[in-house]
Amino acid sequence: MARKIAAGEVIDRPQAVLRELLDNALDAGATRLDISWRAGGLQALEVGDDGHGMSRADLELCWLPHTTSKIETEDDLERLRTLGFRGEALASIAACSRLTIRSGTGAGASGQVTLEDGLPPRYEGGPALRGTRITVEDLFGNLPARRKFLKSAAAEGTLCRRVLDERALAFPGVAFTLWTDGVRRVDYPAQTPGERVLAVCGPPWSSAGLLAWTHEEPGVRLTGYALKPPASRSDRKGVRVYANMRPLQDYALVQALCHAFEGYLPGGAYPHAVLMAEVDPGLVDFNIHPAKREARFRNASALHHAVVESTRRALEGQRLRFPAPESAAASPPGFSFGPPDQAPAPTPAAGVWDAVWEQARTAGPVEVREQAAADGFRYLGQVLGVFLLAERGRELYVVDQHAAHERLLFDAFRARGPEVQELLLPLRFRPEDEAAEALARHWQDYAPLGVRLRPAGDGAYDLEAVPLAVAGLEKTVVDFVSRNVRPVADLEKDLYASVSCRAAVMDGDPLDPATARDLLRRTFQLEHARCPHGRPIWTVLTREELFTRVGRLV
Ligand code: ADP
Ligand code: MG
Repeated sequence: MARKIAAGEVIDRPQAVLRELLDNALDAGATRLDISWRAGGLQALEVGDDGHGMSRADLELCWLPHTTSKIETEDDLERLRTLGFRGEALASIAACSRLTIRSGTGAGASGQVTLEDGLPPRYEGGPALRGTRITVEDLFGNLPARRKFLKSAAAEGTLCRRVLDERALAFPGVAFTLWTDGVRRVDYPAQTPGERVLAVCGPPWSSAGLLAWTHEEPGVRLTGYALKPPASRSDRKGVRVYANMRPLQDYALVQALCHAFEGYLPGGAYPHAVLMAEVDPGLVDFNIHPAKREARFRNASALHHAVVESTRRALEGQRLRFPAPESAAASPPGFSFGPPDQAPAPTPAAGVWDAVWEQARTAGPVEVREQAAADGFRYLGQVLGVFLLAERGRELYVVDQHAAHERLLFDAFRARGPEVQELLLPLRFRPEDEAAEALARHWQDYAPLGVRLRPAGDGAYDLEAVPLAVAGLEKTVVDFVSRNVRPVADLEKDLYASVSCRAAVMDGDPLDPATARDLLRRTFQLEHARCPHGRPIWTVLTREELFTRVGRLV
């Protein structure tokens, strides 16, 4: 029992199981990871890898408490390059689930051990294989009290997905696939670090907006990626920091990155950035936090200095200084009680906007009807996470921010015409079962849209070019193509609707007032105030309606 309780401290939810299994597979030098779970990992969670595997003797030891093959002497702790080193993860998982470990080193037969609470370990032999597959079933089935602290399967699944993406970002050379409840959700091939950043971070990240830099000094190597200003967020959640492949919650490093962007972004805006630091293992201690999410750096101030300076240099090289911050900075965040926005001047897209938005606003056909904005409106604020409120004449407009942005992007994409962007590296994909047949017949029909495909044999295709308007959103195009089973008639509309939906601001994305006004102005100029899926973009409450509701005489 003591063991079970101790286990709970390390393994508190499926996310922790996944983290440990991924770390072990990566420590074993895997180049491919197949991950799957059911019911958010509560029912089953499995990680397969093609790493060096375990011999029968290792298999008999690995799940015992405090067994690790990664440290032999005290000094090893100083030189540590592996993700795990305490030798307690498998033991802890075994104490609170049914754990099956199948592993082989490629030489001779493989072995399998099944560990279940209260039963002796069961060993079996198997055919020769190299790699390891670990399955964790019925997590906390023997600890009902602990199960009560878990969230819904969907919420636990989201947490697992976060850990997967954290590791995927740090190991771009490793291929990751994920199946959840039988559906394939993730397919990251082995990629360059920059490609992986784009794949994992998703929109608004785009190759066109990507800024990358490196910096080296004794004991430290830094690699940074960021979205070029003015792309930004209104919080620090877009900043991710890693040291020696481990994601860190390190306020000082996040702060250093944000500090470097000062002058390039308006006040209250923070960058989208990923920083990977490789620090001499002798100069950093990860053994201060159970999940290794914090580290103590021996030369912290030098490290911060290097982060700020190298980031600044990268930004300077881009000449991206933020031009006229007054429009965004002058308005207080949230509600604004200013005068009606009479024919406002175009404002810089600061806030959650991104390269995609930037593309759309410079490309959009809506520009032509700019003077129509003279009918004026007053922006009142963002409410309920989804809606922008605006007063216009005697009416109150409640505008769905996602639907509005989606519509504007959709129009911009369609207006860009057939110009294409060749992909430096074709993106290989395999359509899902139902779509495979349709694609085999119709793959050439995508070409007139600028989506150039080439069969790559064995049911796979290479995406070779995309319409310029959606450059940087290749993964979304692939997602669409590999799932589309509909006839080709409405292809353009469907494709762009799908891409706009993925690229648009989401519910809950906070918008700064300048950006919100800009979005509203464009929205009010639309001829068809419906999103590409046909939903209305806004709803209107008239003064009369409101009067009636509170029992006033109209
Ligand atoms: P640690 O990772 O701290 O060493 P764990 O309990 O996570 O401790 O794992 C115990 C041991 O089991 C590891 O040291 C390693 O030898 C072995 N092991 C676990 N997972 C794998 C894997 N996927 N491939 C090869 N060996 C593994
Ligand atoms: Mg481990």
